[in-house]
Amino acid sequence: MKIAIDGPSGAGKSTISKCVAAKLGFVYIDTGAMYRTIGLSAVNNKFDTKKDIESIIKMLDEINIDISLDASGQRMYLNGNDVTDLIRTPEVSAAASDVAVIPEVRIKLVELQRKLAEGKNVIMDGRDIATYVLPDAEIKIFLTASAESRAERRYKELLSRGISTTFEQVLIDVNNRDENDSKREFSPLKVDDNAKIIDTTGNSLEESITVIKEFIIKEMSK
Ligand code: C5P
Repeated sequence: MKIAIDGPSGAGKSTISKCVAAKLGFVYIDTGAMYRTIGLSAVNNKFDTKKDIESIIKMLDEINIDISLDASGQRMYLNGNDVTDLIRTPEVSAAASDVAVIPEVRIKLVELQRKLAEGKNVIMDGRDIATYVLPDAEIKIFLTASAESRAERRYKELLSRGISTTFEQVLIDVNNRDENDSKREFSPLKVDDNAKIIDTTGNSLEESITVIKEFIIKEMSK
């Protein structure tokens, strides 16, 4: 069984999907981490991620991206090095959103994502999972929340990781990423016709997890 969870940045997709997958015994696949890994590689190469498109496309043939999925969660490797803890900075978030606009990047990652999901019970989260990566997913959820509430969540998460920033800056970043993700031509962020929209504005994490888990269990029993 395949469950697709899409939505804008900071709606709580990763945390919620991870918890729900653990409760239901599903494998959780975080596709944003893959775009982040390519974003990190572009940053490491000192590319301008808005302009150096040709260099980034060339880079795709020269890098190795690996993923391990186990009980401790998903880990990302770039050229054999574990970069899981390096891909969550604001700089890499912005770079991920930029490289995600490039069709060659998306084609490479979508192939990997479909392979990972083959023959498994998975919850996959991202932006285009229901519309493009796994259009046959049995359950499709579009998780959203107001930009302020998403920025607030992201701000607290960054502070807890020791990354210093301001709420205003995080809100600007969230709005920029929303715009980038929704306006790109190839496979943009949009609600699939068959997706259930769930708005988590004002909900605690626990409340959101419960709502989503119950929705999934109800759908599975149909
Ligand atoms: O979900 P997360 O915030 O980690 O994703 C990082 C970036 O990767 C997003 O801003 C988005 O631009 C891109 N992304 C995407 N398609 C996906 C997952 C993520 O374009 N399926």
